[in-house]
Amino acid sequence: MDDLLLTLKTTFGYNAFRPLQREIIEASLDGRDVFALLPTGGGKSLCFQIPALQRTGLTVVVSPLIALMKDQVDQLQAAGVAATFLNSTLDADTARSRLAGLHRGEFRLLYVAPERLMLDNWQENLTAWNITALAIDEAHCVSEWGHDFRPEYRQIARLRKLLPTVPVMALTATATERVRADVIKHLQLREPEVFVASFNRPNLTYRVLAKDQPLKQIIDFVRKREDESGIIYCATRAAAERTAESLAGRGFSARAYHAGLDAEERGRNQERFLRDETKIICATIAFGMGINKPNVRWVIHHDLPKNIEGYYQETGRAGRDGLPADCLLLFSGGDAAKQTHFIEEITDDQEKQVARAQLRQILHYAESAGCRRRELLEYFGEGFATDNCAACDNCLEPRETYDGTVLAQKFLSCIYRIRQTGRFGVGLNHIVEVLTGADTEKIQRWGHQQLSTYGIGKDLARPAWAAVGRELMRLGYVAQAEGEFPILELTEAGLNVLRTRAAVTLTKPLALPKAKRVTHRE
Ligand code: ADP
Ligand code: ZN
Repeated sequence: MDDLLLTLKTTFGYNAFRPLQREIIEASLDGRDVFALLPTGGGKSLCFQIPALQRTGLTVVVSPLIALMKDQVDQLQAAGVAATFLNSTLDADTARSRLAGLHRGEFRLLYVAPERLMLDNWQENLTAWNITALAIDEAHCVSEWGHDFRPEYRQIARLRKLLPTVPVMALTATATERVRADVIKHLQLREPEVFVASFNRPNLTYRVLAKDQPLKQIIDFVRKREDESGIIYCATRAAAERTAESLAGRGFSARAYHAGLDAEERGRNQERFLRDETKIICATIAFGMGINKPNVRWVIHHDLPKNIEGYYQETGRAGRDGLPADCLLLFSGGDAAKQTHFIEEITDDQEKQVARAQLRQILHYAESAGCRRRELLEYFGEGFATDNCAACDNCLEPRETYDGTVLAQKFLSCIYRIRQTGRFGVGLNHIVEVLTGADTEKIQRWGHQQLSTYGIGKDLARPAWAAVGRELMRLGYVAQAEGEFPILELTEAGLNVLRTRAAVTLTKPLALPKAKRVTHRE
């Protein structure tokens, strides 16, 4: 048995490495900078903990999750590892005695919050403490393109300057191509070895339902799963609270978790959930970071998540034990409209653009008729080879299609006519308003009620038209250009449909539980 495996067994009690753990550890011990992208639960911590035990000196771990530091350090200490942490929760005496310990070289691992990095006379300490490795957990926090940007993370680059020869390891569970490049740039990684584990979670089944009566839909769902643990994610504290109360009122074992509860109640509810005394937790996204409950059997999203990363993270809390688990997203066009509204109020341009792009991607996911797993994996830059994953709604029950030629022609010709008037740069909403014959200020100002396409789509509700528009984008007939605000353009394929009257097949919207017209309203 080699040294690494021995440490894995004797210190951590595990028999085998998870995918890429060994490779990452070896690269780090070779003195390389490392970028490691492993899904949540993939075992990132061991990637820097084992090297810390193999080399001399101190490994500094930067982590934004102050709440988890104590747990992690407690676990390490229980395993006999000399580890400690420094963050704002410590009183002055404790902090002082830990600093003294660090000066005496008593520790192998030091966890530290990023905002702490420039305090405590770090410059002097860094040289005095014989730091031999630096690990940056949740490294995506350094990027504005991630979902969790933390300006303090930008300070980490200064550490790099102060410790030019020390290998740096950046770890994250969420990084698109863009975030990855940002991490490498801002943390100044030097010719890093990049490790990317598969994000596929084969034991998770993904479904999307048109949100109609969410409470009823949730009850139908949990009734079939009375003994199972699950999480219901809600967009607001009020919705989390309301859902928990409604379920508890019907005899389900449900409690709420959100930042509006006092710390004690929140902690108690989380504790009960972890111990299986409460089966269902109705939570905002405040819940779950770092929680490692293996037997969560399902995750419901009561509202549209803000972005795919978040959705992947939150659904990823299901089925950590590797056994089958279900993920259900309740989707309504109304939720999308609400989010659009909030996004338009954002004053920072860059932030607004990011938020718009993220909404577009999650909408794409929700409305896609293609394999959900493939959509998720493609988002993370990973391909998915087989056609049918056999574990998502669209693969298990392919959606019905219909002849959408007439709808497509109406929509496409509406863009075409507007362009002919010499007005460029209209967005989806405006086109839908023209089609449905709305009376808006813009339509008046631009004289668009004169267009031959004005009101030709009155037979369909606006959200349904918006969905048709988005499907035409997915199918490549319309392109969306990202400018000051997103504008629609006909593509060559779109023009071709108009010229040749080519047939266009569209997918029926997500089925509603009852037969009724899709208005996408709650
Ligand atoms: P991440 O930070 O990637 O989400 P963690 O480092 O918290 O993941 O690890 C998730 C869980 O998996 C922890 O309980 C950890 O002890 C466990 N784990 C890590 N590596 C292994 C392994 N090689 N074998 C078994 N369990 C492991
Ligand atoms: Zn699929």
